[in-house]
Amino acid sequence: ASRFQVVELGPPIEVFQLNKLCVEDSYQNKVNLGVGAYRDEHGKPWVLPVVRNMEKQMAEDATLLHEYLPVLGMEQFSAASVSMLLGEDNPVIAAGRAFGVQTLSGTGSLRVGAEFLNKHLKATTFYYSTPTWENHHLVFVNSGFTNPRSYRYWNEKTRAIDFDGLIEDLKNAPENSVILLHACAHNPTGIDPTQEQWEKIADVMEERKLFPFFDSAYQGFASGDLDKDAWAVRYFVKRGFELLCAQSYAKNFGLYNERVGNLTFVISDAACAAAMRSQLTWVVRGMYSNPPAHGARVVANVLANKQLFDQWRDHIKMMSSRVIQMREALRAELIKLGTPGNWDHIVKQIGLFSYTGLTPRQVEHLIQEHHIYLLKSGRINICGLNPSNVQYVAAAIHDAVTK
Ligand code: PLP
Repeated sequence: ASRFQVVELGPPIEVFQLNKLCVEDSYQNKVNLGVGAYRDEHGKPWVLPVVRNMEKQMAEDATLLHEYLPVLGMEQFSAASVSMLLGEDNPVIAAGRAFGVQTLSGTGSLRVGAEFLNKHLKATTFYYSTPTWENHHLVFVNSGFTNPRSYRYWNEKTRAIDFDGLIEDLKNAPENSVILLHACAHNPTGIDPTQEQWEKIADVMEERKLFPFFDSAYQGFASGDLDKDAWAVRYFVKRGFELLCAQSYAKNFGLYNERVGNLTFVISDAACAAAMRSQLTWVVRGMYSNPPAHGARVVANVLANKQLFDQWRDHIKMMSSRVIQMREALRAELIKLGTPGNWDHIVKQIGLFSYTGLTPRQVEHLIQEHHIYLLKSGRINICGLNPSNVQYVAAAIHDAVTK
């Protein structure tokens, strides 16, 4: 008998299970709208040319070694990440009131930030939007947050933000609660607050002394413009909030499996930074000791060179425009077919995802009958669409809706 007999099978992770089902499906016209990664117009993963070139250059560079990085990672990388998020001339940078820590992509960033807040500020209550990225809950609970709460975000009927619900829930949140906010391109709904709505959110959070923890997994992907997509974070900084922001380079650099991320801290007193950094060193030391170098070097080198940076910005523009085109194409096809319902939300939503409003039964129908894979919530990854499959997908949605 094994001592491991006590271990029970855990539930599958929906998005990975769905991906596996799709990979194993031998149907020629299958479509993967599940996985949260960019696909090009042929449905293939895309390595950004600026990344590929940098990797080639790095492969030839004999000065690059496999020595350990410092526990908090590459300083040049973190400094560039903080500038990208806050804008390089943001006064908080010059004042020493902002610093970054290299982390294991966005997830690792959230994890380190949450553990730090739990350990050092004794934070135990956090709020996430309903719905949200399905990992937020687990990451915070594993970091010691014993009181997970949610705030309303999505109104199923109007297919828009439930803004009154959101404000009411924040007003009722206990002081010092950590409020997880999507910096842009909300996952899974694709709907962000307007600037006026962000201002009201900031008012309530200030009044109620709530702590903002931004999750920025899609900077550049929402509008194609890095500065526009950082508006909300920069606005909160301008209002004088102290905050954390988890940044991921998975999507905007296409570096999914390299685990490249940064955790930015903005604080009101520069004198606190040294102690915070020393304690962050211990958080990371006990978690994974130090981060990997490859992806961070790629990003740091691209961000540091004007010409490469411009190339990268063009890549982001290209990816985000393709997504926008596919949104329009899908909506146009559904209108052409006369599919019952209003499909305007598909083009109003931004970022990689669309919350289609399809029911679990319709989703099941799409998977079983049409080999189109999407999450039970009806979330689709728009860049799973391309000019060769968008008609097929629209016809299948039409079939599912009219069944
Ligand atoms: N946060 C959100 C909202 C996301 O959608 C994702 C990825 O899908 C992440 C964080 C973290 O991703 P990663 O850890 O791959 O950077």
